[in-house]
Amino acid sequence: MAESHVFHRVLTRTLPRAVGAQGVWIEDADGRRYLDGAGGAIVVGVGHGDRTLVDAMAEQSSRTSYVHGTAFTTDALEDYADALAPLLPLDEPRIYPVSGGSEAVETAIKLARAYHLARGESDRTVIVGRNASYHGNTIGTLDVGGKAALRRPYEPWLGRFPHVEAAYEYRCPSPSHPAGCGAWHAERLERAIAEAGPNTVAAFVAEPVAGATLAAAVPTDDYWPAVAEVCRRHGVLLIADEVMTGFGRTGRWFGVDHWGVRPDVLTAGKGSTSGYMPFGFAACSGEVFETVRGAGPFVHGFTWSHNGVGAAVANAALRRLAEDDLVEASARQGERLLKGLSTAMADDPVVGDVRGIGLLIGVELVSDRGSKAPFARADQVTERVVAAARERGLLLYSSTGHVDGRDGDLIMLGPPLVISDEECDLVVERTAAAVASVSSAS
Ligand code: PLP
Repeated sequence: MAESHVFHRVLTRTLPRAVGAQGVWIEDADGRRYLDGAGGAIVVGVGHGDRTLVDAMAEQSSRTSYVHGTAFTTDALEDYADALAPLLPLDEPRIYPVSGGSEAVETAIKLARAYHLARGESDRTVIVGRNASYHGNTIGTLDVGGKAALRRPYEPWLGRFPHVEAAYEYRCPSPSHPAGCGAWHAERLERAIAEAGPNTVAAFVAEPVAGATLAAAVPTDDYWPAVAEVCRRHGVLLIADEVMTGFGRTGRWFGVDHWGVRPDVLTAGKGSTSGYMPFGFAACSGEVFETVRGAGPFVHGFTWSHNGVGAAVANAALRRLAEDDLVEASARQGERLLKGLSTAMADDPVVGDVRGIGLLIGVELVSDRGSKAPFARADQVTERVVAAARERGLLLYSSTGHVDGRDGDLIMLGPPLVISDEECDLVVERTAAAVASVSSAS
């Protein structure tokens, strides 16, 4: 076969060609069918091949495919914002649409800066992030994130922002764990704010449930209320990064809904259009919006921001989620999957933890369950499990290196929310078989 001209994301093997997809299934050019156990990268919510999203895209493209965000608004954008606003855990929200998660987080941190500048607090420049977190791959979002392996090649360009511990119960560093984890994290955040200097912190950014780096690490119930209170007390904006957790993924519309927390800024991407269009947004409270508006323009923008076609598709995804009760389905099927996986792999010696909430589920693989010691990176355990699953017709998402920046093996599941009972059971069966095939060889 002729050499491809594409600079692929995977350079070590030839990728199959996807030619069709329906529901939770993807088909390649050789006729092989794969169960999309992670919705790509926890993206696909409403399922593949949904006609209503495709029609919404075609309809809006045939009206206005592109108009610039400084010259026009569109019905598609206005209608989407009207439909979305009541669902957002923000007071009087305003929505700034962009093309994806990294742009959404980049927009959010600039918005935090703009807010403080507008209030005359120009010293507030610091953004506090968390270790073992992921907020995107641009230089700004990489810096606020804490995924060591992705940061490593670019370290000379990074280092502006401090990081606190992520909420990660399986390896919780709090001495009083499992009691008082929320208070412990709140105290760590308070300390980071003090160390940065009085009135210098602009925002704290965190994923409601740590996704891409910690594979569905669900915080204790006291975590979010406690860190939100610290932010409020110090005039620090709270940015909830819901790029992975938004739009029903965790069994609620947004991750912070589990804890009744209302952030100042919320970011979304992935599930907003279920992957049918590159889209995302940073949404802020009315108070943040009015403050920034009062001081002049928000100095920001992208060629593709405020895109009407993206908004039309996002609105169709929203309708599908609401009309088919897919948020409730995520909670229900998530429980089924979590229980099924926990039971099926209960005796597998490499399965250290099975965790998650809704249809956001992670499995942590360890070389010793008692000590929780990770496998050496050279063992390529995650890669072998993902390959074994692929051979069995199941696609998984994965992450490595979270334990010490090098070792650590995680697999993630996050199928489309339309997954049936039988398909859930198939995911359990194939995941357990893939893990067992590697476990027995280790
Ligand atoms: N924020 C979170 C929480 C994410 O999980 C991701 C992607 O995995 C991003 C931001 C970056 O989104 P994107 O890849 O669309 O730029």
